[in-house]
Amino acid sequence: MNTVEQFLAHAIALEREAARRYEELAAAMQTEGNAELKTFFARMAHYSRKHLAEAQARGGFRELPEMRPEDFDWPEGTAPETADWAGVDAMMGADDALQLALDSERRGHTYYAAIAATTQDIELRRLAGEFAAEEAQHVVELEKLIAARAAA
Ligand code: ZN
Repeated sequence: MNTVEQFLAHAIALEREAARRYEELAAAMQTEGNAELKTFFARMAHYSRKHLAEAQARGGFRELPEMRPEDFDWPEGTAPETADWAGVDAMMGADDALQLALDSERRGHTYYAAIAATTQDIELRRLAGEFAAEEAQHVVELEKLIAARAAA
């Protein structure tokens, strides 16, 4: 990937989908009566929406490409933060929900980091690097939460 526009179009799709999934997880945890995890997933949804807004704002002063589904170039054909989300449902347990979120954040991180590592475009390298760093933060937060639950 070598244009910032292409990257932003992918990032917008990815973060929008991730936010939607986190909102589903928050709702599922509310159904479970798990207020702590409901709050956590709502916060993750908020981060994704922030990321999305950032990507949209950066795209705002550029001509963003009109993307049809077949125009996206995802590593395995699906947006990296959304693969495996098909299993989300209201009856999902907290541990499964956290694991799903962790896998998704790791894939998001790998995706952005790979672009940062391989692009020839200097501006895109910096931008993808920033997105990768934020995903790395999300991974750390989830790992902490999972470890804390395991220790409890
Ligand atoms: Zn993330």
